[in-house]
Amino acid sequence: AAQANLKPIQVKLVLLGEAAVGKSSLVLRFVNNEFQENKEPTIGAAFLTQKCKLDDKIIKFEIWDTAGQERFHSLAPMYYRNAQAAVVAYDLTKPASLEKAKAWVKELQRQANPNIVIALVGNKLDLASTARGVSTEEAQAYANESGLLFLEASAKTGEFVMDIFTEIAKKIPLDT
Ligand code: GDP
Repeated sequence: AAQANLKPIQVKLVLLGEAAVGKSSLVLRFVNNEFQENKEPTIGAAFLTQKCKLDDKIIKFEIWDTAGQERFHSLAPMYYRNAQAAVVAYDLTKPASLEKAKAWVKELQRQANPNIVIALVGNKLDLASTARGVSTEEAQAYANESGLLFLEASAKTGEFVMDIFTEIAKKIPLDT
């Protein structure tokens, strides 16, 4: 078996999306494997790190959650500047949140690092059977035509949350 490269590869990742879609919850699930019902919104930017093993490499994600700063849209460029990856999240029970996600993707594609790996994530998959408002097909088609990774996940159950980060890690050029 290949020996793990001991020096982690750092990847700056930003989270974007409408308020309350579950950005902080996705990070909390990925980093601490926790979920908080009725979580108080985080004020100010949150910065967390989490390591993730991919083949023989260790990737250290430096995660920037804009946490409640969505309202201050002008602050966004300083979060996504130099980011190698972005998670643009929407709430799959709320079609308007997908429209907001599309606006973020457009902004990233215009203004962020041209090599940025963007994952569109439909969160709250646990509510899909009772309250789905955005079909998988619609979001997948949009992601395909825009060159995005696409996953549906649930921060609440944890389903597919790790996959978001491993899929991103696979697409990032890691030889640098
Ligand atoms: P943010 O503003 O985008 O960071 O969203 P939060 O992480 O603060 O989550 C907003 C609300 O949605 C909170 O009450 C969370 O408990 C809830 N929430 C987050 N993720 C999920 C999920 O996957 N399923 C369900 N059912 N609720 C979620």
